Amino acid sequence: MRYISTRGTAPALNFAEAMMTGLARDGGLYVPETVPTLSHDEIAALAGLPYEEVVFRVMSPFIGDTFTETEFRGLIARAYEGFGHPARAPLKQLAPNHFLLELFHGPTLAFKDFAMQLIGQLMQAALAKSGKRITIVGATSGDTGSAAIEAFRGLSNVDVFILFPHGRVSEVQRRQMTTPVEANVHALAMDGDFDDCQARVKDMFNDFAFRDGVGLAGVNSINWARVLAQVVYYFAAATALGAPHRKVSFTVPTGNFGDIYAGYIARQMGLTIETLVVATNQNDILHRALTTGEYRPAGVTPSISPSMDIQVSSNFERALFDATGRDGAAVAAMMADLKTGGFRIRQDALGALRATFASGRASEDETRQTIGRTLAATGELLCPHTAVGVKVAGEHLGAEPMVTLATAHPAKFPDAVQAASGIRPALPPRMADLFNRPERVTRVPNDLTALEDLVRSRIG
Ligand SMILES: *Cc1c(COP(=O)(O)O)cnc(C)c1O
Repeated sequence: MRYISTRGTAPALNFAEAMMTGLARDGGLYVPETVPTLSHDEIAALAGLPYEEVVFRVMSPFIGDTFTETEFRGLIARAYEGFGHPARAPLKQLAPNHFLLELFHGPTLAFKDFAMQLIGQLMQAALAKSGKRITIVGATSGDTGSAAIEAFRGLSNVDVFILFPHGRVSEVQRRQMTTPVEANVHALAMDGDFDDCQARVKDMFNDFAFRDGVGLAGVNSINWARVLAQVVYYFAAATALGAPHRKVSFTVPTGNFGDIYAGYIARQMGLTIETLVVATNQNDILHRALTTGEYRPAGVTPSISPSMDIQVSSNFERALFDATGRDGAAVAAMMADLKTGGFRIRQDALGALRATFASGRASEDETRQTIGRTLAATGELLCPHTAVGVKVAGEHLGAEPMVTLATAHPAKFPDAVQAASGIRPALPPRMADLFNRPERVTRVPNDLTALEDLVRSRIG
């Protein structure tokens, strides 16, 4: 299995290389040269299997000979053993033909644990084989950073540095980053906003002497291994609801287009998915792009579903690559136009996207009303991101079962949930002491040289 860049000029890589590299050298994103398919019988056989076994069967065709079968099974087992539910991704019924896929039973209560826990294990094992050490540096508005720290804490050949904007993440998110006691975890509270954090991380990757000197690696949402790990729960959920004997649709609360793109890969692999519905909050660039064909960022307006407050949706590039018939030059041209305001999606490409994706948006009021209404009708307390999904899914219900992805636990966003429902959601018992654990955090300036010096001194 080889991976190629969406912009067509970077060298092809194997799985382990694509996982460690992240962004391709031509600025593109890595995708499989050809997507392997599972047969009708192979898909039918997944129904009811333990989640870890579904992970093994769905991911194996993509990872080549990076790990032996026994190694890979061991890594999968370790990745998911810390989840607080034996089904890992349980389904709950909301209405006659509408289901919630609960993806928040991992250690940091958001779906990002599914991918991050596994790539922590995969990277550690790949490094053990090569004898290398890496330094992971990431910026976060909350969920990605806590998931990364949780995944890499205590691993022997990795240091993990996470930059978050000082004073601008929720208390639960901050404590999840600052309370791990392991020496390889470095939570950095930076003076500035999330864009500043992201800009300094980008600067570090562009400083090649520094990058090579510390063995910099990234785990942001464009990392192919993260996308791949998320393909699995589409198979687990759809087969539980009768696929491949019948079709199933999914609605996905979307920001960077990573989670929904994983659903697209599942469909490419042969899973009987009817429609993939993109659900956005008021930052609705993807909904506008799919309805009008114009992809034009209009500035981010902060919302109560902050993990979807995005205007440049990185993984959408992967969908555009396929929609243009894998025309790397066309993708590179669109991305160049994006730097000066935006682009128009070619008519054939727009048609191809609309054959798979539908879309909708939820305003702040609609999000709050959905939290209240769902609680009253079903007893379920939704996080604001999930509520965006449930609202949009309601506009796309059809003959086939609809599954809405529940991307975070309501207790991760207690203020917004309480304001909408009157109920303050409690943390699950296994992390109820989060507020009593001592915090460890370094306050850092918005200054590249100071940050690089700090990283070098910490990894000694
Ligand atoms: C990251 C995140 C999203 C958006 O996922 P993408 O893969 O970026 O589309 C939605 N909900 C929550 C809770 C998240 O943490």
